[in-house]
Amino acid sequence: MKKLWYVAAGITLLGSTVAAHADFPNKPITLVVPFAAGGPTDKIARDLAEALRKPLGGTTVVVENASGAGGTIGAAKVARANPDGYTLLVHHIGMATAPSLYRKLSFKVPDDFETLGLINEAPSVIIGRPGVPANTFAELRQWINASGGKVNLANAGLGSASHLCGLMLQSTLKASMTTVPYKGTGPAMNDLLGGQVDIMCEQATNAVPQIEGKRVKVFGVTSLQRLSLPALKDTPTLDEAGLTGFNVQIWHGLYAPKGTPPEAIATLNTALRTALKDPAFIKRQESLGVTIVTDERLEPAQHRKFLEGEKTRWAKVFKDAGEYAD
Ligand code: ASP
Repeated sequence: MKKLWYVAAGITLLGSTVAAHADFPNKPITLVVPFAAGGPTDKIARDLAEALRKPLGGTTVVVENASGAGGTIGAAKVARANPDGYTLLVHHIGMATAPSLYRKLSFKVPDDFETLGLINEAPSVIIGRPGVPANTFAELRQWINASGGKVNLANAGLGSASHLCGLMLQSTLKASMTTVPYKGTGPAMNDLLGGQVDIMCEQATNAVPQIEGKRVKVFGVTSLQRLSLPALKDTPTLDEAGLTGFNVQIWHGLYAPKGTPPEAIATLNTALRTALKDPAFIKRQESLGVTIVTDERLEPAQHRKFLEGEKTRWAKVFKDAGEYAD
């Protein structure tokens, strides 16, 4: 395979107009999701897998869940995979937070990856099991404060988006809660619906269908602006509800292992850009409160720069909050 890439690069150098990477892809691509099925990362990956098929010339993109440890198990798997363009990773903000939170991380960010482009951004919402004895954020706040740390807060593990949001919530409220980690917020949502855990800070992506179905209570959105979705338009932001400046936006990006041939990176980036313009894909994401990235962060180099910036930003947040690698 290596030899083939070498030859392909040679054709490009000779200035041929023949598509130098015409051979890629010629078999199914695996898209690793570092969280359990049914959560926001799994959902975006499955929608993206579908939207990538056509721009990749009909190639099947298979989603594989490699969940656990806040997404670091799946990320490590892709960092170690053959860099041939056939194993990719969809990961969120956890890519930028893990280096600060895990002492024994088996991969380097961003050095062990090729950034292929940012995908989306989405705010989170604070939701609760139906029996939570509060209907507004003010009542929720009172209940949490009176509980002496007994309120259960579900998350998707150390460094996950729900963990970050939960940390910020606890520190802003100056109240602690009992954290319950899961391998993703898909299973965490099941336990929330079943009443085994009390509250969760979850991306709109996964929360909107449950809010629409009135299966969970919603207390606030984490963006500075309200969402215009019918299910959330009347829900105040946490900023409005008294947590001035509270703002959590979660993003997802696409990655390949370091050393993936430039031709494959270019093909995948072009396919990603096309997929993100697919009207059916856009409609579905927007209906879940997700904004598709259309700016320069679709460019691999800009995605890398953004990731590095996020890594630095979160390292400072954790240092200031006294959070450290375990
Ligand atoms: N939303 C999750 C998180 O809290 C992860 C997932 O996509 O399942 O990080």
